[in-house]
Amino acid sequence: MRVFNFSAGPAALPEEVLRQAADEMLDWHGSGMSVMEMSHRGADFMSIHQEALVDLRELLEVPASHHILFLQGGGIGENAIVPMNLFGSKPRADFVITGSWSQKSYKEAQKYGTAHIAASGKTEDGFTRAPARAEWQLSEDPAYVHLCTNETINGVETFDIPDLGDIPLVADASSHILSRPMDIAKYGVLYAGAQKNIGIAGVTVVIVREDMLDRAMAICPSAFEWKTVAENNSMFNTPPTYAIYISGLVFKWLKRQGGLKAMEARNMEKAKLLYDVIDSSGFYINKVERHARSRMNVPFFLADESRNEDFLAGAKARGLLQLKGHKSVGGMRASIYNAVPLEGVKALVEYMKEFEARCA
Ligand code: PMP
Repeated sequence: MRVFNFSAGPAALPEEVLRQAADEMLDWHGSGMSVMEMSHRGADFMSIHQEALVDLRELLEVPASHHILFLQGGGIGENAIVPMNLFGSKPRADFVITGSWSQKSYKEAQKYGTAHIAASGKTEDGFTRAPARAEWQLSEDPAYVHLCTNETINGVETFDIPDLGDIPLVADASSHILSRPMDIAKYGVLYAGAQKNIGIAGVTVVIVREDMLDRAMAICPSAFEWKTVAENNSMFNTPPTYAIYISGLVFKWLKRQGGLKAMEARNMEKAKLLYDVIDSSGFYINKVERHARSRMNVPFFLADESRNEDFLAGAKARGLLQLKGHKSVGGMRASIYNAVPLEGVKALVEYMKEFEARCA
């Protein structure tokens, strides 16, 4: 039996993708072998890799000015890889802190240069805001401004992306990439680990504008130097081949669903169902400002936290899994990525209503 999986990542994958991967496991398209066993330089894998790149470029409408790289190291790796690639002549950057993940990015960058907090969304209720551009206090001539456009733990999403002119904007979009259209032209760099909304753990998508390729520090490892990776079409070292293959299957699935506009409409519907039940009484609580509420990660608390274990046990009994909040904030969290179907969110909402009624 398949459950409804609300994990924040690694997370649910579309069932169609899993079935196709299973069908192709032993013999990919008559090659007589699994994708896992292929040379990354052979024609078969090269075609898988190329098609994934083309499909991702089409889905996100990535302009010709930007390269798409498939790296390794995840979001946490990028916290070091970004400064090492951009601090070559100006070792200083600004950070907009909207939650736990941008805080980590800010901290890691300090190993390589100066990191300045331009704005923070922290309030007495934790991270509940996405500070608007008018609040950002940028430093003098930073190498870049870093923003985590969706904070997975805190459930804070930034929808209003400013144009910073000559200052490159670097975004960690790990937990909402592909959930809706994004204007990639606004970003110098946009990166995302795959294990939430793209595919499986192991590949990190880095979208980087051409002029970002000549700013690396001398210490930057070659395998993570964007210029080197771009010149070698992400084949400087052995890429995470199976993770790229699964991403490619997800990209095809997204195209069959109608692309990112269609996904956005579905994701809005799913998020609305969930926030509506949270807001309908004081039984469940989410304190994130409405305009900054994430459509992908919905953290919530029970007003009476002594019922937490009961809530989770009842959910599990109905096949609603991975609802426990991140250990740093507690409470609950429902991650409702692209692959979590509307029926899953409906089942969760029904359960939440019933649980509330039962406690009354
Ligand atoms: N950034 C964000 C927004 C994330 O949600 C995560 C993972 N939850 C990371 C970075 C870190 O990713 P990884 O563990 O793949 O390095």
